Amino acid sequence: MDITALEALRGALRGPVITPQDPEYPEARTVYNAMVDRRPAAVVRCTDAGDVMDAVASVRDHGLELAVRGGGHSGPGLSLVEGGVTVDLSPMRWVRVDPVARTAEVGGGTLLGDLDHAAHAFGLGVPAGIVSTTGVGGLTLGGGHGHLTRKYGLTVDSLMSADVVLADGRFVTADERNHPDLFWALRGGGGNFGVVTSFTFRLHPVGTVALAITLWTLDHLREVLEWYREFLPRAPDDLTGFYAQLVVPPAAPFPEEIHGRTMCGVIWCWTGDLDRTDEVFAPVTRPAAPAFHFTTPMPYPALQSMFDGLMPPGLQWYWRGDFFDRVTDEAIAVHATYAEAIPTALSTMHLYPVDGAAHRVDPGATAWGYRDAVWSGVVAGIDPDPANAGKVRQWCVDYWEELHPQSMGGGYMNFMGADEGQDRVRSTFGAQYDRLAQVKRSYDPYNLFHANQNIEPAPA
Ligand code: FAD
Repeated sequence: MDITALEALRGALRGPVITPQDPEYPEARTVYNAMVDRRPAAVVRCTDAGDVMDAVASVRDHGLELAVRGGGHSGPGLSLVEGGVTVDLSPMRWVRVDPVARTAEVGGGTLLGDLDHAAHAFGLGVPAGIVSTTGVGGLTLGGGHGHLTRKYGLTVDSLMSADVVLADGRFVTADERNHPDLFWALRGGGGNFGVVTSFTFRLHPVGTVALAITLWTLDHLREVLEWYREFLPRAPDDLTGFYAQLVVPPAAPFPEEIHGRTMCGVIWCWTGDLDRTDEVFAPVTRPAAPAFHFTTPMPYPALQSMFDGLMPPGLQWYWRGDFFDRVTDEAIAVHATYAEAIPTALSTMHLYPVDGAAHRVDPGATAWGYRDAVWSGVVAGIDPDPANAGKVRQWCVDYWEELHPQSMGGGYMNFMGADEGQDRVRSTFGAQYDRLAQVKRSYDPYNLFHANQNIEPAPA
């Protein structure tokens, strides 16, 4: 990296500027997905919005490549550009809850677990993803879905405002009244429009929830999915359950006799009256006799971190997604084929419900392109061993290609693989793409923020 650019950065910033010569460099360039191995020229750890403004200005003025790191969880490792500069928000990891106003202000580098923990102290929470080490930044800007989505909507539906450093160096607050076009685009358009230094969320009541896990052997897959596709959309908003195909992990609460067996199942969450748990979960064992059925109450943050141990950082990941408004018979046949062929113990396929409250938001109100989707599906090939990277990728691609014709045509931008191309970006944003490209032209006409699922600025 040009020495004057480096000196300019070091001179301007309060946070450290880490380069390949520094002992912290190997850790600073490590992201969640170990399949990603890129060497940025510098990782700039920003302590506040002032650091972000200086870093963005310096990178832009020296003509360098820019990437932004929230939690570093994206599948394609979008927070690293080979030879570029990463604006790393990890020092900006803080949450301030206002329990009276029921809002939370959150730093741009905060992780979901930080937010869940801080809000839970007041019996409150935000709908977001299901693994606590995921960054609030990338998840929110892509839309965000999880256990509370049927009850309270997508993560962006609870976003009240965002502080943003723009490509031209300006710092603005975007909300319904100020920069409404930018605020619209931030709610589903990804990191295309600037660096969000803090988010303000509306909080919702959530305390102890009821978890249920119901697993069946694969010979019941067809009847389970035929039942699930009818049951879930008609269930009350307080009940959600994502469908999964998985290899049963060798850990509690699963009994030893099913460890290592490939099964299909549903991971349920009930946010209603806990006295009604037995009644609510009674129908879920009806499609066929389950191999395993387990229910327990648990604090919401405990549910949110339940999968952390199973999916630590440092695994090989390749994933692809699509939205579905129905589960067709043809899709069930594809699921059956690829469940039988699951390549490794951690590889999986999930269908996350995105209906309920998320359906009651005006389709034009945010940049989320698929308000009519009922499920956000993801196929994920996962394994600790780099030698299996090709195998898990191939299974994922083959599965996705056979399933894709049964989808709505686009997938969740946060479930896009590394190499899906610009046509897929367009179908990901669906009907919102052209408006997003107009907003991009207004706020980032030279496409400084392009280390993302990139929306090219509309031509002038
Ligand atoms: P990063 O790699 O840091 O960033 C991703 C993108 O967002 C980059 O383009 C980056 O530049 C941009 N970005 C991040 N922060 C900011 C910011 N503050 N300002 C501007 N741009 C920013 N998603 C769900 O919706 N629900 C789930 O349940 C869910 N589960 C997941 C489980 C696992 C194990 C993993 C790995 C991911 C999961 N995801 C889920 C997907 C997740 O939403 C994406 O991986 C998301 O990109 C993570 O955001 P991040 O900030 O950690 O990632």
